[in-house]
Amino acid sequence: MEEIFTDILVIGSGLAGILSALEAEKSGLNILLVSKFAIGMGTNTSMASTFTAANSRFSREDHFRVTMEAGKGLNQLNLVKVLVEKGPEAINRLNDYGIPMVERGMGYVMNRPEDSFQMPGVLWMKRLHERLKTSSIKLLPGLTIFDLVVEEGQVLGAFGFFRDGKPYLVRSKAVILATGGAGAIYQRNDNQKSILGDGYTLALQAGLPLVDLEFVQCYPLVLAEPRLSSVILLGHPKGERLLNEKGEDLAEALGIAGNIHHAVMAERDRLSIFLYEAAQRGDVYYDLTGVSEEAWNRFPLNFLKKSKFPFRERPFLISPAVHFFMGGVEIDEKGMTALPGLFAAGEVVWGVHGANRHGGNAVTECAVFGILAGQSAGEYLRQRQVSQGPLVNPEVLSRRWERKTKAYLRKKRGVFDQPRDLLKELRSLAWKHAGPAREESSLKEGLDALAVLEKRIQRVYPATRSDLFRKRDLESAALLIKSILKGSLLRKESRGSFYRKDYPDKDDQNYLKNTCYRLEKGDIEVTHRPIPKG
Ligand SMILES: Cc1cc2nc3c(=O)[nH]c(=O)nc-3n(C[C@H](O)[C@H](O)[C@H](O)COP(=O)(O)OP(=O)(O)OC[C@H]3O[C@@H](n4cnc5c(N)ncnc54)[C@H](O)[C@@H]3O)c2cc1C
Repeated sequence: MEEIFTDILVIGSGLAGILSALEAEKSGLNILLVSKFAIGMGTNTSMASTFTAANSRFSREDHFRVTMEAGKGLNQLNLVKVLVEKGPEAINRLNDYGIPMVERGMGYVMNRPEDSFQMPGVLWMKRLHERLKTSSIKLLPGLTIFDLVVEEGQVLGAFGFFRDGKPYLVRSKAVILATGGAGAIYQRNDNQKSILGDGYTLALQAGLPLVDLEFVQCYPLVLAEPRLSSVILLGHPKGERLLNEKGEDLAEALGIAGNIHHAVMAERDRLSIFLYEAAQRGDVYYDLTGVSEEAWNRFPLNFLKKSKFPFRERPFLISPAVHFFMGGVEIDEKGMTALPGLFAAGEVVWGVHGANRHGGNAVTECAVFGILAGQSAGEYLRQRQVSQGPLVNPEVLSRRWERKTKAYLRKKRGVFDQPRDLLKELRSLAWKHAGPAREESSLKEGLDALAVLEKRIQRVYPATRSDLFRKRDLESAALLIKSILKGSLLRKESRGSFYRKDYPDKDDQNYLKNTCYRLEKGDIEVTHRPIPKG
């Protein structure tokens, strides 16, 4: 087993992870940044484009109002205040790191030529990676973290496997969790394939509760052509149409003809649910054949134009798809969790968005709270050096993790299911039973079907190196799907992104509450708790 020592370990190289690492470096400490893949790659950040934050035409009060309106009473007030207050400062930090930002609408976008077809997020990641290369931060792409190391009530590093199958024990004095969301546990999603909610599982296993995991946001228009990536369809030019397989205009049926753009912005959930239910009756198409040449030459259509697929010549299949997780790990205003030594930032965190996320707030959250988590981890270590707590015997720790490695690699005899097929089954179960429209009977059926799948997952053994990682993905995805199903059963109302067909109305009297998920003896326990006073 390889052992590495550092002061602060950052897990994840999306916007939240990179900004927290750069900030923590300013305290003069040793920082190690790890991620599953190449730095900045395989991140949801690389697909994002827009920041919401106060600018010269959009005040902090406006930002606060739209965020709270979307959250439908479940936002964590203290975190929203920080987001709104520090949003513009975080945008300035991006400017400092070589990402030129300009005001646009309710916030900012990267300043780049109109005809550029590169995803803005990819450009941010490239610039930040360049910045990292000139820093003292050590980078270890290819390391997947399987566990946080928790000793005597504090986090002292993490354990994982490198892409070549070698086990690694990273010993650190603090850890920043920036592992993103979990969109890819669903059959229909627009996330990167590897965004499977590892951070949520790591937190649950370390004894932390998760909050409001049942709130999952969908994007209504995502490419669903077989063999093409599930690309999010942005832009909404004049002349776009939504059709069913009979050629009937679905936008007209929903009363949004000529204004799909507005519906995507203001009624995202209603449109997603409508299209989810329409897709159960037959295929749903998006038609761009009536769109002007000028629109095809601008981002984002110029991106589609590069493809060999005849997007301009015929309608193509689309579907709503899971986009963002509102729930996650609880932090304070400085990015600290309840577990000493553990900080968190980005999509893995709960609180800012409440029952739904206002567009553009996710990357602002990553920037604001990534910076704060980096600063507070540095501060935590400075204080800790003054009053250093009891340290664990290093040899005992090594032996313990050697044993754990063997347990992960143990090969048992049994029926062998292909992990790839099992993940496919899990994903379609999630979409069918915990998708945009949920109801009691289907949620219960989902839990029964999941129990059968869980038994099959238990029997998977790491026959190859990739099976080791796949088994981990399966266990993590199953745990989260079970959580969402259970949490959805408990919430008998509809609110924000959360829709129960059998309880279509918001019920403040009984459900203006946060849902708390805990891992107790290997199973998920779900309870409600009052909204904290912010
Ligand atoms: C298509 C799309 C478009 C979007 N557009 C916008 C937008 O315009 N504006 C907006 O505000 N939001 C947008 N969002 C949401 C936003 O992009 C994400 O919420 C945000 O980028 C998440 O950033 P993050 O740093 O938390 O995580 P990510 O950027 O997702 O990065 C996660 C990192 O964690 C690493 N990781 C995960 N698990 C492990 C593990 N076990 N071990 C090691 N490393 C691990 C991954 O390898 C990766 O490096 C969009 C999302 C999508 C999918």
